[in-house]
Amino acid sequence: MRPATIRPLKEILAAMSNKSEADVALVTKAYEFAQDAHKEQRRYSGDSYFVHPAEVGYLLAGLGMDAQTIAAGLLHDTIEDAGVKPQTMTELFGIDVLTLVEGVTKLGALRYRGLERHTESLRKLFAATAKDIRVLIIKLMDRLHNARTLAYVPNPEKRARIALETLEIYAPIADRLGMSVVKQELEDAAFPHAYPKEYERTHELFGERKEEGEERLLKVEKNLKRELAGAGLRTFRTEARVKGLYSLFRKLERKDWDASKIHDMRALRVIFPTIADCYSALGVIHAHWRPVPGKIKDYIAFPKPNGYQSIHTTVYTGDGGAIEIQLRTEAQHREAQYGIASHLTYKEIQQGRYEGKRGGLEWIRQFIPTRRRAAQDEMFDASKAMPEWVQELAEVQRDQSDDAHDSSEEYLDTLKTDFFSHRVFVFTPNGDVIDLPIAATPIDFAYAVHSDLGNTMSGARVNGKMVSLDTELKNGDVVEVITKSTAHPSRKWYDIAKTSVAKKHIRSALAAQEARRGM
Ligand code: MN
Repeated sequence: MRPATIRPLKEILAAMSNKSEADVALVTKAYEFAQDAHKEQRRYSGDSYFVHPAEVGYLLAGLGMDAQTIAAGLLHDTIEDAGVKPQTMTELFGIDVLTLVEGVTKLGALRYRGLERHTESLRKLFAATAKDIRVLIIKLMDRLHNARTLAYVPNPEKRARIALETLEIYAPIADRLGMSVVKQELEDAAFPHAYPKEYERTHELFGERKEEGEERLLKVEKNLKRELAGAGLRTFRTEARVKGLYSLFRKLERKDWDASKIHDMRALRVIFPTIADCYSALGVIHAHWRPVPGKIKDYIAFPKPNGYQSIHTTVYTGDGGAIEIQLRTEAQHREAQYGIASHLTYKEIQQGRYEGKRGGLEWIRQFIPTRRRAAQDEMFDASKAMPEWVQELAEVQRDQSDDAHDSSEEYLDTLKTDFFSHRVFVFTPNGDVIDLPIAATPIDFAYAVHSDLGNTMSGARVNGKMVSLDTELKNGDVVEVITKSTAHPSRKWYDIAKTSVAKKHIRSALAAQEARRGM
């Protein structure tokens, strides 16, 4: 491979959407500062080290992130790898940028150790540690560039570890944030290094079926265009979606490597102006081709937990094969590709540019004065597009303010700072993660594990020390419940408990005790 060139500043600035003079100045200063700070360092590839942070900054600009985030992306390795003092960074770039860089640095200390359970722990802890969602997005772009350049890492064990970590932790986080483009790129960059043999096999199998798949797709596309036009649906565009190799591999494993059982190696996407069009098109498609039973999925009416919306159906194509067709609106399409990142381009919201190319901002329209709204409200049902936790935040926000414009900014602040922060993640002595609300106690923990454990609890240790049962648990605590067969819940426990699960079990245990006493 030829040496990489450093991404020029002007390309990063050009990729930024809606920038002010101050934004340009901040990003320029960060670029020049980081280039100088890393000037003695090289990447494994032999390239100048600055190739890496410059690329991270460019990726963030492309996602539509704000100037602070782009600056933090450019500076993200300067504290750890170039010895820049936090105080210097605050003086030059402000506390906001420092907080972002420190968040990214802190996440870098987490390591994948390969155990299934540990992976899950790490994933949740990771999420809990990153209070500001922008930290996670910087970290994802950092990992994306490192995954793309994995081939240069000389130590094979290290290479495999980074690849596995990418597949087990970073790709699922990208998925959780609805960033499907990032998820697929992370997976496909890491796959050959994590599972070389399986990669070869998948790659070969995919190649064998490539021509057949492409022909079928073209044929279906042509027929579909004719059928839709015949039904009066003329405004739409189509797009071929090729499944990522890693995701194909996972599916092949589930289907005993029988490729004939996989119908979505290639899918045809049809993108319409309105949701009503999507349903009309579904009718047209099923009238023309026979659908494969059990393969119709209406994620518009029932979005996935990460907010994904589309209608999927698989149809028999009459040549012995079948193909998946996905129907969605433009807004759903943007949202499906960049997820949460598309929600954070707040400058566009302030200036009413929510129809921009990376938009996906339609769900924030409720916070924007009516006169700025696009005409077609039917296009997008905001409440259905959001992950549940975003909906919760949105409801809080709606209650708090009637001034739509102010609340869009406030709302984004809430989104940035409260992401995952309303939960604590604590551990059993075996390393299992228990997810509890803020201020939960050992009593809540015991009942979250099992009602029997709660009902026979006599004490608790947190991080090896005996504690009282009303102790508030903190992120990362290891909690051990001590039981005694004669122990039982009390009224006091009921008052201490924070979760409804614990309260419910305590109430019924107390009722049972009453009943026994009454006998
Ligand atoms: Mn880095």
